[in-house]
Amino acid sequence: MKRYDSRKTSYLPENFYNIKADLPELPPPPLNPATGQPLRPEELEPVFPRAFIQQEISAERFIPIPPKVLEIFSIYRPTPLIYASALRKYLDTPARIFYKYEGVGPAGSHKTNTALVQAYLASQEGTTTLTTETGAGQWGSALAFSCRQFGINARVFMVRSSYRQKPGRRIMIELFGAQVLESPSPTTASGLRFYEKDPNHPGSLGIAISEAVEAAVSQPETKYSLGSVLDAVLMHQTVIGLEAMKQCEEFGIEPDLVVGCVGGGSNFAGLSFPFLGKRLREKKSGPRFLAAEPEACPSITRGELKYDHGDTAGFTPLLFMHTLGKDFVPPAIHAGGLRYHGMAPLVSHLVKLGLVEAKAYSQKQIFAAAELFLRTEGILPAPESAHAIAAVIDEALEARKSGREINILFNLSGHGFLDINAYDRTVSGNGHG
Ligand SMILES: *Cc1c(COP(=O)(O)O)cnc(C)c1O
Repeated sequence: MKRYDSRKTSYLPENFYNIKADLPELPPPPLNPATGQPLRPEELEPVFPRAFIQQEISAERFIPIPPKVLEIFSIYRPTPLIYASALRKYLDTPARIFYKYEGVGPAGSHKTNTALVQAYLASQEGTTTLTTETGAGQWGSALAFSCRQFGINARVFMVRSSYRQKPGRRIMIELFGAQVLESPSPTTASGLRFYEKDPNHPGSLGIAISEAVEAAVSQPETKYSLGSVLDAVLMHQTVIGLEAMKQCEEFGIEPDLVVGCVGGGSNFAGLSFPFLGKRLREKKSGPRFLAAEPEACPSITRGELKYDHGDTAGFTPLLFMHTLGKDFVPPAIHAGGLRYHGMAPLVSHLVKLGLVEAKAYSQKQIFAAAELFLRTEGILPAPESAHAIAAVIDEALEARKSGREINILFNLSGHGFLDINAYDRTVSGNGHG
């Protein structure tokens, strides 16, 4: 049988890939919530650095990666593309399974890819502090690391249920030198509304975003940073797919199916958009693209495609996306990074165009998938990433039934070492149902 060594290339892309250059039609634009009119870029200036806004609205196919960012990327990129031979053997499937492992980055997930760009761009415009929200803490730790690299402060509103369930990442964020606040907090009007009624309110990403945006717009040298959903953020993550394309070439394979888990959609987009763009440009039938989401927060499979706010207070522009409604408070599942009511407009648009499929998995299914992955491949996945693994296992078993020798490529978006307590409850049998 053919062997696939996990790492040969030292290829680092020098540009991000912008799928908007290759789409047959663009998604409906973001709207100003006050006027209902398409948002003008200047209107975002109190919130985001100007260079970031330029990237958000750009239709150029390639956007250069700033050299200072490339330098730090080169510490942990390219990330390995690994052939999951033991998982394949266990599943007794003719499907070949490959995964891109983003857990090797400084904060243990793909989120560092965009955090570095955002912190760098902010630091170039005299911004002294970036505010943000975090669910499970992966985004908060990635941004805290990145702000430290470029000499600016990070203030992180952390969803209370995660703050209490997952002290590991809160400690990481603080060790990187950033400030962490439990959200809903009493420090903003949007947090106080909930905090006053219940100081133990579990919080949600929607509320934490409102708090972080409010804290940013009230100070001129403070800007806001978002870890997913926006077009520019998805674009920053395409380093994953650009590297993977090169690595697949070296393996001499082409994926038939590309899989990723989706919270806001960025790691899935990062892996799939370069492959999807190639398929659109060459007008050939290319791979299938499958997004895996939690049953507890099923924005694509159960949500509605419509204009909605990105946050609970309604500060953010109206985005045309798959949404469960801005007031939806998802149950406190362990995949905190997937507890978001909406879905990236670009991913939502590709679902509408029939280019992306979605499937939802229960917490029980994803913990079983994670355990199998650990026992075969030896890596403990983040509970978020375990959604992708559950989908891959399903597809590999389908391939066994039909005898098809397909190539499956998926994104292992992060490791789960700091989620170890969540996994402990599985073992003792009193956590996940
Ligand atoms: C945040 C996170 C996700 C979900 O966010 P996306 O924007 O959908 O990628 C998935 N996996 C990990 C490890 C995360 O930290």
